[in-house]
Amino acid sequence: VSGLSHSFDVIAKLGEGGFGCVYKVKHKYDGKIYAVKSVILTRKADSEVKALARLDHPNIVRYITCWPSSDNWTSNQERNQVSNTSSDVVTFDREGCEERDDDDDEDDEDDNVTLGMESLSVTESASAAAEASGNNRTDSRTYLFIQMEFCEGGTLTDWIKARNQMEKQRSIVEIHKIFYEIITGVEYIHAEKLIHRDLKPDNILFGADGKVKIGDFGLVAAQTDQNGDPIERSNRGTPTYMSPEQKNKKNYDEKTDIFPLGLVWFEMLWKISTGSERVKLWPDLKGQRFPEGFSDSYQTESKFITKMLSHSPEHRPHAKDIKEKLEKFFSLDQNLLSQKTI
Ligand code: ATP
Ligand code: MG
Ligand code: MG
Repeated sequence: VSGLSHSFDVIAKLGEGGFGCVYKVKHKYDGKIYAVKSVILTRKADSEVKALARLDHPNIVRYITCWPSSDNWTSNQERNQVSNTSSDVVTFDREGCEERDDDDDEDDEDDNVTLGMESLSVTESASAAAEASGNNRTDSRTYLFIQMEFCEGGTLTDWIKARNQMEKQRSIVEIHKIFYEIITGVEYIHAEKLIHRDLKPDNILFGADGKVKIGDFGLVAAQTDQNGDPIERSNRGTPTYMSPEQKNKKNYDEKTDIFPLGLVWFEMLWKISTGSERVKLWPDLKGQRFPEGFSDSYQTESKFITKMLSHSPEHRPHAKDIKEKLEKFFSLDQNLLSQKTI
């Protein structure tokens, strides 16, 4: 049995990114909703799933299990089979899903390779697959399906968008709590000797318990090699949020994760109304320059954020330090923290 259809009904496509597609699914037998991410089975998929399986923390997306697709699950036959399911269930296809070969040891040139067939509709893809019987590149790929808890509260991107568009009010207590949970999750990742390398609002989710869940371990890496030495790094990640040293492929360490969190904290606090305003503001922000009024309105936060955005990683605070300081400055006691965040 291959793919998803053996045990799941696909309800919706939640996201698609560089490394795979994520689906909201309902388990046919236990009746629960889950998220299932499909990724091309490479060494990177291996590190993603191993990290997720190892990490066990209330602020990290909970892993359930994983399985590989059979070699031919994208075959004409299965595509037709899944596209004939009942109409209230979204067809499981890989339409529009970008795929990238990903391996740290390989050159980065392939990062944006999109397989031609993947941009076709199901039926087009099916006939293309039939025609291309001599060229089985897509069909011969094995995918890894990673089953996780479904984070029903959406992403931090949604949270920010709703506030920038004035659909919802910003609450400073809520911001402190959310950021505290993000830092708590990142502190745990770093204590486990890992680096996330792709922290950004899209990859920060909210679970059914209303708490922050850090997700997308597609770029996770060890902090050092087996001998405790620094590892030669790639410059993969999301340019908008990437630390300067990660962009420059330096032998960066876990402090690379602190830089994007400075940007994230700013975005949570400060209303950015338009895309062009954001484009204008962003280089200033990365250079530790805030818009007028920000430092006055958020004195403590702006001091933290300035340090987090330091261009020298050694001047950035550790997640643990930030967490302890947050507790002190914002009186985040256990009573407050045990309450629902969103
Ligand atoms: P990227 O291009 O950001 O690296 P990706 O393809 O690596 O994306 P993820 O970031 O893991 O994949 O997931 C893509 C999107 O799917 C997320 O931004 C989020 O919107 C949604 N998503 C992922 N996991 C879950 C989950 N467990 N529950 C709910 N939604 C999820
Ligand atoms: Mg992502
Ligand atoms: Mg990713």
